[in-house]
Amino acid sequence: MTLYQTEPRIAAGDVSNTEPNLPGKLEAKPSQTDFLTKFMVEPGARVVLDDIDPGCCAGYESCERAQTAMKSYAEKIGRLQYLMHAENKRSLLIVLQGMDAAGKDGVVRHIVTNMNPAGCRIVNFKQPTPVDLGHDFLWRVHPHVPSKGEVIIFNRSHYEDVLVVRVHQLAPVHVWFKRYELINSFEKLLVADNDTTVLKFLLHISKEEQLARFKRRLEDPARRWKISEADYREREHWDSYVDAFEEMLHRTSTIHAPWFVIPSDQKWFRDLAIAQIISRTLEALDMRLPQPAVDITHIRRRYHAAEITAKAS
Ligand code: ATP
Ligand code: MG
Repeated sequence: MTLYQTEPRIAAGDVSNTEPNLPGKLEAKPSQTDFLTKFMVEPGARVVLDDIDPGCCAGYESCERAQTAMKSYAEKIGRLQYLMHAENKRSLLIVLQGMDAAGKDGVVRHIVTNMNPAGCRIVNFKQPTPVDLGHDFLWRVHPHVPSKGEVIIFNRSHYEDVLVVRVHQLAPVHVWFKRYELINSFEKLLVADNDTTVLKFLLHISKEEQLARFKRRLEDPARRWKISEADYREREHWDSYVDAFEEMLHRTSTIHAPWFVIPSDQKWFRDLAIAQIISRTLEALDMRLPQPAVDITHIRRRYHAAEITAKAS
């Protein structure tokens, strides 16, 4: 289990010399904390969510101090997504899970800030339709996985089928229990057969912070549209969700598709940590712009000919 280890390791392929440097204290350089190692759930680890501080900021003192790093990671993600799109060989699937108001929408906004919409898509998984329910649970998911060159973000996902389904007993235990293995095989397929990188983020908030966000939604007319009865209903099942999350982390954090538990009470820290993990992961792919598909010397000649014609007319 790598959560909150004191000596941060740098991930393979990390290009630290391109890391943003933060102004401030010399003795604690928060930008060097490797969130990929720090927040990754090692395969088979048993995470106790209560032991993880949702308010952790890993040495960053404030949002203002993190701004430079956040901007830099967002820009880097934009550049790397362009490269992924151009290279057209590999893809990225980002999975977001968390309680209501944990900030899934906020993370999506932050990740895609600098992305080209041509190469990325967000898929929201709501309650399954009767047609969905007539099929296996992955039937509605598979058509949305990324094709080569694409970045896809799942806002909720196939994991609902071992979360809400378990908490509310929407399927018998023997049905949802088999799904952990089925999910592992499904994600392995994406990695092995289509060079997809899979990153899964559990946004970890405290019950107090959730209530504070519900209050803000109630008091701010611009946020009221987000309020739903279901939010309060699900909150009553908080402990059952914690159990379901812990089992999910234990059974489905794998080498090929790891889970990261992201402290999310501070929105800016949540966004920073996720952006760093995504940008470092993309960097490690060592993607290259493809060679031009045309003979550049020939095209250059054609360009000069066209230029001469344009000047003459
Ligand atoms: P918001 O932040 O807007 O509230 P949301 O993801 O919570 O976003 P909602 O429309 O409020 O969106 O809720 C979607 C609901 O669909 C969630 O309660 C989720 O648990 C439920 N859901 C998703 N997948 C499944 C599934 N496979 N089976 C049952 N319920 C599901
Ligand atoms: Mg909701």
